[in-house]
Amino acid sequence: MGCVVYVDNAATTKTSKKVIDAMLPYLTEHYGNASSVYSIGRDARNAVEESREKVAKAIGANASEIFFTSGGSESDNWAIKGLCDRLKAKGKNHIITSVFEHHAVLHVVESLEKRGWDVTYIDVDSNGLVSPADVETAIREDTALVSIMYANNEIGTIQPISEIGEICRRHGVVFHTDAVQAVGNVEIDVVEQNIDMLSMSGHKLHAAKGIGALYVRKGIVLTNFIEGGAQERGKRAGTENVAGIVGLGVAVEEAVSTMAERTERLSKMRDRLISEFLKMERTHLNGHKEKRLAGNANISFEGVEGESMLLMLDMHGICASSGSACTSGSLDPSHVLLSIGRSHEVAHGSLRISLSDDNTDEDIEYILDKVPPIIERLRSMSPLWERIIKNEDVINERCSYDISKMNE
Ligand SMILES: *Cc1c(COP(=O)(O)O)cnc(C)c1O
Repeated sequence: MGCVVYVDNAATTKTSKKVIDAMLPYLTEHYGNASSVYSIGRDARNAVEESREKVAKAIGANASEIFFTSGGSESDNWAIKGLCDRLKAKGKNHIITSVFEHHAVLHVVESLEKRGWDVTYIDVDSNGLVSPADVETAIREDTALVSIMYANNEIGTIQPISEIGEICRRHGVVFHTDAVQAVGNVEIDVVEQNIDMLSMSGHKLHAAKGIGALYVRKGIVLTNFIEGGAQERGKRAGTENVAGIVGLGVAVEEAVSTMAERTERLSKMRDRLISEFLKMERTHLNGHKEKRLAGNANISFEGVEGESMLLMLDMHGICASSGSACTSGSLDPSHVLLSIGRSHEVAHGSLRISLSDDNTDEDIEYILDKVPPIIERLRSMSPLWERIIKNEDVINERCSYDISKMNE
């Protein structure tokens, strides 16, 4: 079954009609190389620079501070490696980040750790919030970078970015934020919020996959990410993804201009989902109740294994996500859910529903109609459930029931 109700927008979004219409001419009549001098090349160049203006405007930056990349992962990689490689020579050797960053940050930081960098991983509280005071305490003489995500992709919590930015500026430490989930959903002003570097991605806001941007504040110098040409001011070579770039500009502009209205609409839908799910016994909301993305609902259902739940939802055409990874060969549930203190067992039974502009009230009613019976069915099949309701200790048991029974 395809998706009847697509609610996995934190994983990716459908490219909007508006974006496709804007991109199409740059795949057809304006196919020129943006570095060429003839007119279709100049058309492409103008379109790229116009898009750079749009992206910059959306976050309060200057166009000259925006570099186009292939997406959020590349932007994170470049920001962290590019800065740390530069600052190594100036005696810096310490990075501060949080335990629940996206892997595009965590794995980069871990690779630097293997090369001798010292890393402080800030814990988050049970609501999934980073404390600015913890960041300040961790700052040292040799700290090169603080990288704290703007909004978490799994549990939707929105961090106190302005406070962290102020602290970093006061201590003269560069502040990077992975804002892939935040751009277009939260008001951002890089100047006011003292953000030095910011990552964004197109496909999380209805642009195409494989396009993103990195904002780098004027005065901060990163090492070149790709050598081989003069594109992106010589720092990120390669013929521009013109259509992708044009689409990103349109998508960001659209997302920001409709933000207020969308936030109001989606947060109502989100809150209805959360309050209905929490009426079921032994369910828990993951992430902060208010300081969360308008489109994010993340619930743990005790006694349920996430991937079985996703498969049963898929049978009803509901495309969602979970913090579990049993069938993908890993026994470890999401590092994000563990970081807020969920046990393995509870983390495995989590459901992330992430909404976008495309979702309707009918989608919410459909989900509320289908999910509770699925949870009940999975619990009735679970050898753990009976023990859970008897309050027995099941903390370290997971992935323990038979998915093949689901079709019975
Ligand atoms: C999706 C995502 C990324 C990765 O972005 P890509 O464009 O897919 O590389 C990075 N960080 C966060 C928070 C994300 O949600």
